Amino acid sequence: MNNTPIVEEFIRMAKIDTASRQERELADYVKGELAAMGFTVTEDGAAKHIEGATTGNVLAVLEGQLDGSILFCAHLDRVQNGLGIQPRFEGDNLVSDGTTILAADDLSGVAAVLDGMRRLVRSGEKHPRIEVLFSVCEEIGLRGSYHFDTSVIQSRIGYVLDSPGRIGRILRSAMGKAQLFLEVYGEEAHAAYPERGKSALNAAVKVLSHIEDGRVDEATVINWSYLNSPTPCNTIPGHVEAKAFAMSRDNDKLAAYIKKFHTVAAQVAQETGCRIETKDILDYPAFLTRDSSDCVRLAQRALGQMKLRASVEDGAGGFDANLLSRAGIELVGLSTGYSGNHTVKETLVVEDLIQSGCLVTNIALEYAKL
Ligand SMILES: [Zn+2]
Repeated sequence: MNNTPIVEEFIRMAKIDTASRQERELADYVKGELAAMGFTVTEDGAAKHIEGATTGNVLAVLEGQLDGSILFCAHLDRVQNGLGIQPRFEGDNLVSDGTTILAADDLSGVAAVLDGMRRLVRSGEKHPRIEVLFSVCEEIGLRGSYHFDTSVIQSRIGYVLDSPGRIGRILRSAMGKAQLFLEVYGEEAHAAYPERGKSALNAAVKVLSHIEDGRVDEATVINWSYLNSPTPCNTIPGHVEAKAFAMSRDNDKLAAYIKKFHTVAAQVAQETGCRIETKDILDYPAFLTRDSSDCVRLAQRALGQMKLRASVEDGAGGFDANLLSRAGIELVGLSTGYSGNHTVKETLVVEDLIQSGCLVTNIALEYAKL
């Protein structure tokens, strides 16, 4: 089992030193492999838009003999501490030597797509058009897919192989995320004469006390984590900054919270006479793919054929599916057997990795029967 081609390829790729912004060598490897299978391979200009980046998103297309098109996606970069990886077997699993991550997030996804496509091509079976997207800079805020031009994608259905958990797990949703910034300008004065100043801290606290924090509703969580008032205690604070992450499964609820934040800040500015600046940056929207969608049903059918149990679940953190779904593509995440990702304890179930390659082939072959 340990010398199965997909396992060997995973280990080969894990040993290629890679980081966000530094995906060049790995990208060249996957481009070569895809070209050898007959794909038309291109790399986009995303690197130009990301400071320090060396590599663009890799898009590979294999024309099909059947109608339709299907997208498979995984990311090339890995979180930090991913240099000098020495994968080793521990029972039925692959792990690192304990000093680095394993980078199964997301090389297990990359390996599954490459292996799945090789099987498909070798099978000689008719298939739809296949689009493979290997994104860059996913781990630093989905930057690669943010700059990817989704208009070149023809597929209306896609699978992002980038989710922790055992094979069979299908992620139909993930939260959207926005960053919120609050900046308050008051008027400094000697602490003994508060009436001569305007406390920026007081105004900032007022804003925060009038909007929710923590779990706002079933779909939405807010985390105000930063409040800075760098003023000595003998002075009325003149400048205060606060920051938050706002996350929701529901794009309308996220928008409503952001709107309330701006409105409350404007009201407090009026009440206190402080100048208040607010800003929000939507990093990515939430996505939700219905259980009855072709995308979910196809994954369930392909898993069923392999006698694997499908489990449709909601994910938490955002991944490339959040941004790609903006183009109207129906997407789900597929787990490939890893856990403990982003840590030195990262573990990959070897059997799940092997099955993930077969799953990719099965999905491509079953697509025509939708
Ligand atoms: Zn990932």
